[in-house]
Amino acid sequence: MPATGDMPPEEFRRYGHEVIDWIADYFEQVGSYPVLPRVSPGDVAGQLPELAPEEPAEMSEILADFRDVLVPGVTHWNHPAFFGYFAISGSGPGVLGETLAAALNVNAMLWRTSPSATELEERALSWLRQLMGLPADFHGHIQDTASTSTMVALAGARERAGLGVREDGLTGRALPRLRVYCSEEAHSVVEKSCVTLGLGLSAVRRVATDEAFRLAVPALRAAIEADVAAGDLPIAVVATVGTTSTTAVDPVPEIADICHQHGLWLHVDAAYGGAAAILPEMRHILRGCELADSLTVNPHKWLFVPVDCSALYLRDPNVVRRAFAYTLDILKTSEGEAATNLMEYGPALGRRFRALKLWMVLRYFGRSGIADRIREHIRLAALFASWVDVDPEWERMAPTEFSTVCFRYHPPGASDAELDRVNQGILDALNESGETLLSQARLRGRLSLRLAIGNIRTAEEHLRAAWELLMETAMMNDG
Ligand SMILES: *Cc1c(COP(=O)(O)O)cnc(C)c1O
Repeated sequence: MPATGDMPPEEFRRYGHEVIDWIADYFEQVGSYPVLPRVSPGDVAGQLPELAPEEPAEMSEILADFRDVLVPGVTHWNHPAFFGYFAISGSGPGVLGETLAAALNVNAMLWRTSPSATELEERALSWLRQLMGLPADFHGHIQDTASTSTMVALAGARERAGLGVREDGLTGRALPRLRVYCSEEAHSVVEKSCVTLGLGLSAVRRVATDEAFRLAVPALRAAIEADVAAGDLPIAVVATVGTTSTTAVDPVPEIADICHQHGLWLHVDAAYGGAAAILPEMRHILRGCELADSLTVNPHKWLFVPVDCSALYLRDPNVVRRAFAYTLDILKTSEGEAATNLMEYGPALGRRFRALKLWMVLRYFGRSGIADRIREHIRLAALFASWVDVDPEWERMAPTEFSTVCFRYHPPGASDAELDRVNQGILDALNESGETLLSQARLRGRLSLRLAIGNIRTAEEHLRAAWELLMETAMMNDG
């Protein structure tokens, strides 16, 4: 008899309970795991059979391998002392939402392929828009990452430029060189988007920054004017609210002015920083963003939603639909304009039910609960920055706008080259300890340590422990 059917319901129930128990224990104890796993390249793969499994296995054996082989090779982003990159959170309500989304397994490409998925997505993004104080005429939908959100926004810019790229592409005909502008501190998603869209790396003009790592407006104006004079066609500016290295906030109102003058699409990349606008006292970071054509914020960064979930807001979603809509006969529906078919808003046809976890997180914590947690992260970052500032052996490398601190060990008399070497040593030793994880940034050519607070479990004690470890490690590395 050939095997048929799924895992029996009773077995699913038993292992389902076991898995949830494991997750609950994991959340309780994640602080006792090494943040960075103590493995070398190939260690994990070396414990997995090369040949694909021929016969069925018991779920108990599979879960044992998950625990014994895979978990030891995991970097624990949920660790309260994870301060690398941008710290994120697989929160309880987010994990439950993700679990239910996997169970429903809908493909929300069209409204009718799951009306709840489409309507909840639009409603949850409208809530998030209200929480951040964005204009009511911004239409939001979810993409997987800010990488895709940026690409989709720039596809809108390319479409609006009126070159007929959707129909005729960019090759085999004479077109001016298209230009996209961003600061030297903008994320590499701008380059990747331009590669994907066929504009090429050379389309990207990275503009100088001021002393606080913000896009320098006169440099932007000069770059656009020089390109126009040379016969190029500027199409868009990407401004960043919360740059990746130092979390600088570009002067969006002035950038919006320039975009308006030259008819350029303004995209705001607020992947990390945008979440802070939920706090009334931080609302100012989105000043000028009401003038943008598009804005992206990642709930999977600082809004306690598990990866992946990137919100893309569009002032005129129809431009993006013009760029991407393409309907096969099998997908034709009778609802017409009464229903939103989210597959028209980007390159992907299939779409996960990502709104479920976002909705659960927004409801479970509410605005006040989310604001309290983000506010505490900002307080902790300011506290850490104050420890750095009062210690003569340490130095802050950039303003602390949000919950990320750039700093370095700086004993008196050391040269920049020595400092780079010493700080690299500190970072390596610290990360190898498994006690905490920090990242680095190159700021004006100098190595900076970079501590980002964003995990929902991080408390002051974790920050103090990291600071003490930093001081100990610095003394040992300097000796
Ligand atoms: C993290 C980040 C990105 C990239 O986000 P993904 O969702 O991983 O693609 C882009 N821009 C900024 C400012 C970021 O902080």
